Amino acid sequence: MILVFCELKDGQIRKPSTEALSEGRRLADASGKKVGALFAGASCAGAAEAAKFGADVILTAEAPTLASYSSDAFATLLADAVKAKGATVLLAAATAVGKDVLPRAAARLGAGYASDVTGLAMVDGKLQAVRPVYAGKAFATTTFSSAVQTATTRPNVFPAAEKAGAGAVEVLAAPAGDFKSVVKEILAKAGGKVDLSEANVIVSGGRGMKDGANFKILEELADAIGGVVGASRAAVDAGWGLPHSMQVGQTGKVVSPTLYIACGISGAIQHIAGMSGSKYIVAINKDPEAPIFKLANYGIVGDLFEVVPELTKAAKAMGIGKN
Ligand SMILES: Cc1cc2nc3c(=O)[nH]c(=O)nc-3n(C[C@H](O)[C@H](O)[C@H](O)COP(=O)(O)OP(=O)(O)OC[C@H]3O[C@@H](n4cnc5c(N)ncnc54)[C@H](O)[C@@H]3O)c2cc1C
Repeated sequence: MILVFCELKDGQIRKPSTEALSEGRRLADASGKKVGALFAGASCAGAAEAAKFGADVILTAEAPTLASYSSDAFATLLADAVKAKGATVLLAAATAVGKDVLPRAAARLGAGYASDVTGLAMVDGKLQAVRPVYAGKAFATTTFSSAVQTATTRPNVFPAAEKAGAGAVEVLAAPAGDFKSVVKEILAKAGGKVDLSEANVIVSGGRGMKDGANFKILEELADAIGGVVGASRAAVDAGWGLPHSMQVGQTGKVVSPTLYIACGISGAIQHIAGMSGSKYIVAINKDPEAPIFKLANYGIVGDLFEVVPELTKAAKAMGIGKN
């Protein structure tokens, strides 16, 4: 079996999890295996949706102790489920939770782990994973010598493909034990916008924005085209009041939206490491020699304070982002 750990948010499977599950289905079809979707929480209402993405079996573990993510309890649950189902592949999306829990579960299983992969294949019944290395300058193909093979899939890289699965539900017992760490409380930030790493459209600002208050024009453009706002490290580190959660790059978030608009960002290698997987890159920079133009599909040489409001006006006039 190929087991895919899926996350729920507001009773729905998170998009990166539907991508991981769809990839699990594809690998299972290529190797004659079954796919199990594994959910955990105080309630797993919404898990049935996994059948739409090809899950043969939907495994749910419900308990008050699983209400919030905790490394110890979830890693134990995943490792136990792999053993119980005799799974040989364990996948999850490379979200904050996925990247935390999978290596822990892998360690408990003595399994190999490939993080943040952008390609997966079954070759002679064994998993092969492709992952970007050296800040995205090269790709490494990872093979596994362990019986169980685990990987996290980079969000927005694998298509979420609807394919009906049997979706038989099996209830798992919540892991019991005196776990070393327990989450007491989660203080969610108000806002409710899509997380950067899941966004389909991102408008990012760099040092060229000159001040945090100027990010308002990026918010306006993002609102007009249905996107969210990101930033370069220079902008985050400038003391403009931008949170680190907005940072895109090697030491920030790795994003792969359909559209990435870089405004006043030079295109340093550490920034590119976080956004080069975007489908279409638009760069707005007043310096025609800025390295970002080498990567961009479309470039506008000009002052962003003139260009961005014009784009917003045009997007509003065309009604983009309203569908
Ligand atoms: C270990 C390490 C990790 C790092 N991790 C990250 C990371 O995760 N993310 C990241 O982004 N960086 C990271 N960096 C920093 C990185 O090297 C760059 O310093 C940073 O990306 C530069 O940000 P920037 O492009 O906003 O600023 P700059 O390089 O200063 O570029 C600003 C750009 O704005 C343009 N500009 C100025 N005014 C205007 C205007 N009015 N209109 C249009 N264009 C204008 C300029 O022409 C220039 O190209 C890291 C560095 C190190 C050493």
